[in-house]
Amino acid sequence: MSDTSCIFCKIAAHEVPTEIVHENDRIVAFRDMDPKAPTHILLIPKEHIGSIADIEDRHGAMLADIAQAATHLAKTEGIDRSGWRLVTNVGPDAGQSVFHLHVHLLGGRISSGRDGAGFRVAATLPTGRAA
Ligand code: 5GP
Ligand code: ZN
Repeated sequence: MSDTSCIFCKIAAHEVPTEIVHENDRIVAFRDMDPKAPTHILLIPKEHIGSIADIEDRHGAMLADIAQAATHLAKTEGIDRSGWRLVTNVGPDAGQSVFHLHVHLLGGRISSGRDGAGFRVAATLPTGRAA
């Protein structure tokens, strides 16, 4: 099931040129076009799912693939010992801008942000404060 207007469905179907760093029959991982950290990879299901809030029981294997692919990519990116983070945004206040489930893999520079989160993945909050 894919949405012809969805950019991440197009990437999953290899319809737009993208640096894919990992793939199997359920998921694709590719570099974010606007990286917020030295390693910034997006992991997505091939199936069009709007966000983590739309997960059903049948998606369990796909979510396990994402966790295992992220662990594998952390090793190949050389950040498995220094540390890495998975983030997924749901809805506008969280900064979700593409409405096809994606998990950000971030690493390479863990800074102590105001909230301890370090990376600034989400967009600006409605109050104007950085997320
Ligand atoms: P969100 O803000 O929805 O959590 O994250 C969307 C992410 O997708 C952003 O970090 C943005 O840079 C990335 N992105 C959006 N469109 C494309 C694209 O066409 N190609 C790639 N590689 N990344 C994209
Ligand atoms: Zn999609």
